[in-house]
Amino acid sequence: MEEKELEGILFFSPENLRYLSGFTGGEGVLLALKGKRVLLVDFRYLEQAQEEVSGSEVQRLEGGMKGVAQALRRFDLRRVGLEAQGLSLAGYGRLAEEAQGVEFVPLDRDLEVLRRRKGPEEVERIRRAVEMAEGALKEVLEMIRPGVKESEVALELEFRMRRLGSEGVAFDPIVASGPRSALPHAKPSLREIREGDVVIVDFGARFDGYCSDETRTFFVGRPEEELRKVYRVVKEAHDRALEAIKPGVPLKEIDRRARDHIKEAGYGDYFGHGTGHGVGLVVHEPPTVNEEAQGEAEVGMVFTVEPGIYLPDRGGVRIEDLVLVTEGGCQVLTGADEGPEIL
Ligand code: ZN
Ligand code: ZN
Repeated sequence: MEEKELEGILFFSPENLRYLSGFTGGEGVLLALKGKRVLLVDFRYLEQAQEEVSGSEVQRLEGGMKGVAQALRRFDLRRVGLEAQGLSLAGYGRLAEEAQGVEFVPLDRDLEVLRRRKGPEEVERIRRAVEMAEGALKEVLEMIRPGVKESEVALELEFRMRRLGSEGVAFDPIVASGPRSALPHAKPSLREIREGDVVIVDFGARFDGYCSDETRTFFVGRPEEELRKVYRVVKEAHDRALEAIKPGVPLKEIDRRARDHIKEAGYGDYFGHGTGHGVGLVVHEPPTVNEEAQGEAEVGMVFTVEPGIYLPDRGGVRIEDLVLVTEGGCQVLTGADEGPEIL
């Protein structure tokens, strides 16, 4: 606030409301002032907010943006930051109309520092989510065999995660077999797994708001020679990135380690996404670990390392682990690099 000469900041996204106040209701507005936070929620959430919130004052919000504008007037605010990612253009239009005379400053990248480093309680929640996700995968492993549809595996995985205590999925699980494994973000289809397939399973659970994210690549029988070679290259790229992680290392350097290895092996054109992304209350959040990444690895960051190689119409391999940056380097929270599991 000082840097941008702001008198307050309005937050709108459920994840930042939760992070800054403890409110899990998902809808409301948080006004951060110097030395004070006010959570504005409508009638539906009032009781829940009063129970959950600590360190913020809870006030009833009436009339949507009209009520937000009233709050700004009550505190006599003239220059206010906005969490740009959490507000639609329509919402901004209504707010600007109701709060004439207030200068709004959109904040985007500026807010990335907010949830980038995780505290011990946050890491513990992520660990619990990992446990649930991996426990569920173990239970459905025997389904990854010829004749079973991708969608059946995905559904069972989701069901088992929830049964083990997950609040839901961190994202819709990806189960992509055979040539479909070459689609990095494939939706599970009705395709039946066949002998000789590569199967990519990308999945995550959610515990107390926090997500996990992990990808394993399986071999069903013996896939073609080149895909087995591709697995080795991806695994080596993954390991090189992991070795590079320690506090102070530029995030783009971590990406470069994995990318250079894949390029040297001749597959540079087939690795078209970043090496990793932060995971927390949202499954894709700062920091980004790619070629353009800003900043360095810092103690407490939790991000994925997920190099992949995708050969169109033939198949792909991705190995995704979740790591915590520690004083001495990093700690791997997941166990994806144990594969390829041959089923
Ligand atoms: Zn993933
Ligand atoms: Zn990921």
